[in-house]
Amino acid sequence: MTKIGILALQGAFTEHEQVLKKLGVETVQIRNRQDWEAHTDLDGLILPGGESTVMGKLLHDLDLFEPIKTKINAGLPVFGTCAGLILLAKTIVGDQTKHLASMDINVARNAYGRQLGSFVTDADFKGIGEIPMVFIRGPIIEAVRPEVEILAKVNGAIVAAREKQILVTSFHPELTGDERVHAYFLEMVTQVKQDKL
Ligand code: GLN
Repeated sequence: MTKIGILALQGAFTEHEQVLKKLGVETVQIRNRQDWEAHTDLDGLILPGGESTVMGKLLHDLDLFEPIKTKINAGLPVFGTCAGLILLAKTIVGDQTKHLASMDINVARNAYGRQLGSFVTDADFKGIGEIPMVFIRGPIIEAVRPEVEILAKVNGAIVAAREKQILVTSFHPELTGDERVHAYFLEMVTQVKQDKL
């Protein structure tokens, strides 16, 4: 059975857990180094929304930063939503901070401003079709390197992308009741398991 870890330090992690359970997948919450070491057999990892600065600091404080970064770089499938996307970006625009820096994208935090930062819209997601997208003070992807595939845009701005086994969305698919983006990630996980990616 597929087993997905969900980083559970802060933010919207229980919602991801519920979606994955509906899709028949085993989930484990990663709260500390002990949890991480108890589950060396994870097939994938979700980095949820929340506050990237807080999560980034906690990753270091809890000694999770290096082992997680190493495993992602070694090919562990990972899905970052919103703050999780920021954690995975190699470049944060106007900021020297680097977190896991696993994906070749430039990301602008709080790109929709603080007042109009939260909204819901429908847009096309490559390979899935039109889906609802919930934005909560989300980032946008300002630039991608050629190896990154753009999966969705809203008003011209990139809001979903993929590089090999790394998937990111600026929005929160776990808050819509539509499970198709999670199913898309699980398909990536299966491909990695079968050595096809
Ligand atoms: N604004 C948050 C950040 O910059 C992300 C918001 C979210 O994850 N919903 O980290």
